[in-house]
Amino acid sequence: MPRWGMVIDLDKCVGCQACTVACKAENNVPHGSPEEQKERRDFFWNKMIAATSGRYPSVKTELIPMPCMHCDKAPCVTVCPAEATYRRADGIIVQDFRRCIGCKYCIVACPYGARNFNGKEQEEKEYSRHDLPPDRKSWGPWPFPTRTHGVVEKCTFCFHRIDQGLKEGKKIGTEVVPACVEACPSGARIFGDLDDPKSNVSRTLASRDSFQLREELSTHPKVYYLPK
Ligand code: SF4
Ligand code: SF4
Ligand code: SF4
Repeated sequence: MPRWGMVIDLDKCVGCQACTVACKAENNVPHGSPEEQKERRDFFWNKMIAATSGRYPSVKTELIPMPCMHCDKAPCVTVCPAEATYRRADGIIVQDFRRCIGCKYCIVACPYGARNFNGKEQEEKEYSRHDLPPDRKSWGPWPFPTRTHGVVEKCTFCFHRIDQGLKEGKKIGTEVVPACVEACPSGARIFGDLDDPKSNVSRTLASRDSFQLREELSTHPKVYYLPK
């Protein structure tokens, strides 16, 4: 069984946020109203944070793209009283919207701010995109389920792409990748099997220094960063 993970090369990231936009489009993540945007209440499954270090006048700000870390020891799974958040056999942490009771314990437990409470009314019909390339239209209605309002949601590593790709016998990590990886114009994001020494992610991690966010918490994130 693979263990899916992602590598983000901060040296190649140009901060364009194509990943953020692609994620919203792929997963039907609502846009915030102008007022929500102004008050920073709109939400993202993939976000950019600005990390500032140093002391004035030698101050440096770095933009860091952040999806869910898909922690191997995920606090969000531990605290969920409804078993709505769980770990798949391939290590992806997912959310069953039908079980979510909107208690927000997982939002508090996540040390990465990866989770969002979706309080927006959404149309309870299947989400379909009209701009898909022909090979994707064969999937039928867009597989990501429409959720009702009042549930917590987050990045899924685009597991619907992975599952469909595996059914079609495609290579995950090269032929099929998450939307954010596909959209990145500078090749800063890599996706693949962390347990396969020949995968692109494993080979990259073996050849470069890397770090995980908040390693001291022992959540064992499956998103790795390559420093500048
Ligand atoms: S980053 Fe947060 S939401 Fe994602 S698996 Fe870890 S604890 Fe859960
Ligand atoms: S893996 Fe998919 S769901 Fe996660 S940030 Fe990337 S595009 Fe969004
Ligand atoms: S799309 Fe790529 S280069 Fe642009 S912000 Fe995201 S990771 Fe960085």
